[in-house]
Amino acid sequence: MTHPAYLLARLNPANARFDVGSGGIQELTQQDIAASIAFIPQGIGRELLCRVWWPEGAKLNAADLDKRLIDLQFGEWRERMDALVTAQIHEQTAETGWARKQAQNELVRARHHMWPRIDETYSLIRRAVVNELIDPRTCPDCKGRGAGMAGELVRGCMRCAGTGKTIRGPVWRAAQLRMKHQSYRQMWEQPYEWLFEKCNDEVHQATRELSKAASV
Ligand SMILES: [Zn+2]
Repeated sequence: MTHPAYLLARLNPANARFDVGSGGIQELTQQDIAASIAFIPQGIGRELLCRVWWPEGAKLNAADLDKRLIDLQFGEWRERMDALVTAQIHEQTAETGWARKQAQNELVRARHHMWPRIDETYSLIRRAVVNELIDPRTCPDCKGRGAGMAGELVRGCMRCAGTGKTIRGPVWRAAQLRMKHQSYRQMWEQPYEWLFEKCNDEVHQATRELSKAASV
C-alpha cells in the first residue's frame, strides 16, 4: 500500500517539501489535507484514513466517526439478531419433520453467529479498533523491517507481507476491552474481528481512492 503521505504529496506538488522518513508529514497544512481528501468519497473509510494518518486534523470529526462506527456495528448486530428471530419462527412454524430439522440447523447457526448482548463493551471495541489501526503491532518476525534474510537472499517478510506491521494479538485486544484473555476469546472475538476487518477494508479502499486521484 502506498503511504498516503506520498499520495498527498502528489496531489499537492506545490507544497510537497517533506520527507516521510523524517516525519515531515506535519509540513502539510490542513488546507493541503482538506484539498486531498476531497478526492475520497465521503464515508467511514475517509474518516478512518484521516483518523489514522492525521490525528490532529481528524479530532473535530471524532464524534462523527464514532457515530458511523455505531451505525455499522449495531446494524450488523441487528442483522444477526434478525436471523436468530427468523430461525426461531421457522422452527415454531415448521409443518413437517424435515422442515423442523432444517429450522433447527438454521437456529444453531444463528445462535453461533449471534454476538453478546448490548453493553458498554461495544464502545470499547470501537475505540480499540481505531487504536489498533492507528498503532498496529510491529511485526515480530522481521522487527518492522518488512524483509528478512533467507540464506543469502533478502526476502519479503511473509508474516506481514512486507509492511512491517501486523495485527494485535488477543492479549492486547482483551486488555483494551478491560477483560480477561479467555473472556475475549470466548465471547468477544467475533464482534471485534468483524469491526476490525470492516474498518481495515475501508481504510484500504479510501487509500485506493486517494491513489486513483493522485495518479490522474
Ligand atoms: Zn514482518
